[in-house]
Amino acid sequence: MRAVSSIHLKPGLRGYQPYVPGEQPADLEGWIKLNTNESPVPPSPRVLAAIREAAADTLRLYPSPTAQPAREAVGRALEVGTDWVACGNGSDELIAMCFRAFAGPGDDVAFCEPTYPLFQPLCSIHETHPSVHPLGEGWALPVEFRRDPAPLKFLVNPNSPIGNWYDAAEVEEVVAASPGVVVIDEAYVDFAPESRLDLVRRHPNAMVLRTLSKSSALAGLRFGFAIANPDLISALELVKDSYNVSRLQIAAAVAAMEDAEHRARIVQEVVRERDWLSAQLSGIGFEVEPSHANFVFCRPPPGHPAADVFAALRDHRILVRHYQREPIAGWLRITVGTHAEMEALMEVLGEVLA
Ligand code: PMP
Repeated sequence: MRAVSSIHLKPGLRGYQPYVPGEQPADLEGWIKLNTNESPVPPSPRVLAAIREAAADTLRLYPSPTAQPAREAVGRALEVGTDWVACGNGSDELIAMCFRAFAGPGDDVAFCEPTYPLFQPLCSIHETHPSVHPLGEGWALPVEFRRDPAPLKFLVNPNSPIGNWYDAAEVEEVVAASPGVVVIDEAYVDFAPESRLDLVRRHPNAMVLRTLSKSSALAGLRFGFAIANPDLISALELVKDSYNVSRLQIAAAVAAMEDAEHRARIVQEVVRERDWLSAQLSGIGFEVEPSHANFVFCRPPPGHPAADVFAALRDHRILVRHYQREPIAGWLRITVGTHAEMEALMEVLGEVLA
């Protein structure tokens, strides 16, 4: 068994609560995985071909330190200069790079709650102070969050695990009122009405993060990117690992950025199934939050505790996420799957509630 902690752990990490990723069964056979917001549709065949081609003799050589071909492909796809792009081993790595670059020990790092539960553990690792702002009624952004003078602030849009969406004016208000860097985490934005990429052009403190994990079906590849003005991008470059993105990741990212059609197909299927699932869940008495992402946040009807529903689904080899922390205790987050998976889920839920 792995030790829970080490006697050598630095004092700042005593009592540390790490980020706990969703369960990944070793053998996927027979499981329906609706717990980690992966794509139910496979990646583009063009991406797989690019990886096969890159799996060559050249792997004896280090990759481009700045993942230059991938930066260029992102720049072409989003119509920004290459010096406005930084690449990472998943957007998680870019989030960590933001801590390294913009928040020193003891500094505040601001974010709302509930949101992506990675920010809090990163505060412990980097010995920064979490400045946590509870979301208001209807998941509204609190005024105090907007005004928080923290040197680093995260806003996830669409937000996880709720799936709620902040419109252009709300996001811009946060950026405009913040003296520090505001990172807009758009991991799920392809399933939402529109990106806030325009903000990075107008506001020198705005950065947008994206990932290929969701709408490009490449969670296992690990590739994310940041878009911001060259001043912020050069700060990330200062603190990154020397070769943080591999040759295989670069080749795959170029192919994925060039295959907008495949991404659009995934988004179309996921949005269709999301709306179907939301209606079905409401139909059997679940409370369902409107979702702008690739998952549905919902609460089973009274008399059916979420923990029991989670366990019953797991007995049928269907994995979803359930929450025990306030204010979302008793809620489930269900990743949108294929239509067959959604039907299987609804069949089991029907039995569980009967
Ligand atoms: N941001 C949010 C809000 C997420 O939910 C995730 C996925 N866990 C990420 C970032 C990280 O994505 P990636 O796979 O690119 O590291």
